[in-house]
Amino acid sequence: MSMTLFDHPDFAGHETVQAVFDETTGLKAIIAVHSTARGPAAGGCRMWPYASSDLALTDALRLSRAMSFKNAMADIPLGGGKAVIIGDARSQKTPALFEAFGRAVDGLGGRYWTAEDVGVSPTDLAHARRRTRFVAGLDGHAAASGDPSPVTAEGVFRGVRLAVRKALGRDLDGVTVALQGVGHVGAYLADKLAAAGAKLIITDVNAETLNLVADRTGARIVAPAEIFDVQADVFAPCALGGTINAQTLPRLKAKVIAGGANNQLASAEVGRAVFEAGLLYAPDYVINGGGIIRVAAQIENWSDAEVDRRVLGIAGTLQAIFLRADREGEPTNVVADRMARERIAAGRAGARAAE
Ligand code: NAD
Repeated sequence: MSMTLFDHPDFAGHETVQAVFDETTGLKAIIAVHSTARGPAAGGCRMWPYASSDLALTDALRLSRAMSFKNAMADIPLGGGKAVIIGDARSQKTPALFEAFGRAVDGLGGRYWTAEDVGVSPTDLAHARRRTRFVAGLDGHAAASGDPSPVTAEGVFRGVRLAVRKALGRDLDGVTVALQGVGHVGAYLADKLAAAGAKLIITDVNAETLNLVADRTGARIVAPAEIFDVQADVFAPCALGGTINAQTLPRLKAKVIAGGANNQLASAEVGRAVFEAGLLYAPDYVINGGGIIRVAAQIENWSDAEVDRRVLGIAGTLQAIFLRADREGEPTNVVADRMARERIAAGRAGARAAE
């Protein structure tokens, strides 16, 4: 079957989609610029052994649109883009391949800024950086952002506190939080929650980090499969995506779902089921926006104080989503997407007015 880009089910008004092939290095990549309405498109580069170029295109289209939404809701002056390199990150990486990728990014003249994502490391990006300046997030480089996870965790912590106030009418002191995944973001979040007096129930597939966090915070440890069944006020997903689904939702005792993971809802329908079950869901790409604010800081040359100010703004955006969801009787994930589309459209109108 052959199909054109414009008929693709995930085509959503993307401005530019570029297929890149470099014969010398074997680079096969797709760079998708979803929107530059609010500023240059920004989003990571993923390297993955896609079984077909259509799957790579699907990922690039979806992920670039998600970045437009995320950047708009973090209120940063960037649009959404994403790059995917088709290949095995364990065996097919070479410096020349990433240099070729850098040349392709440079060819877009600053309409797309690339960064790390699954399968791509700061070292790989350093090779790309030799051919283009439109690269964010390099270890030890002048453009280094460092580890964004403490900033992400701070935004998530404030979002959890806000959601608990809204749903339970109380502060975090004495509230029980079930935390799924205590990696980078989860561990920082656990510390902040414990300091605020919350009781923690934690799980992870990595026993070492689990014990470290439990020793530090007094958290109770449960097995990964048990975290959905524990008696808790808040469920905080901080591991992988898709953990809220038709099987897990009925098991949750919590009244709030708020955590740092991306793509927490297995589908938009699950978002409606969460809403109908009376749980308050903090949309993932809004509450975890601290990381992208940290990356944007390098592109925009923001000070640490400016980053802090913007991370505080995440709770304000969540508050606006919760109020509008109440008013319109709609799930919070639906309201967040709607607000993101409005912000992107306003950016487009603003850009036209300035011409
Ligand atoms: P991480 O890899 O450091 O942490 C993830 C943790 O989850 C690991 O400790 C892992 O062992 C654990 N885990 C994996 N599968 C599990 C399972 N089935 N049950 C329980 N635990 C499991 O990653 P991170 O940087 O902390 O990111 C966590 C999530 O937050 C991801 O979804 C990521 O996309 C998202 N996120 C991270 C940032 C950031 O700044 N790091 C920003 C935005 C979003």
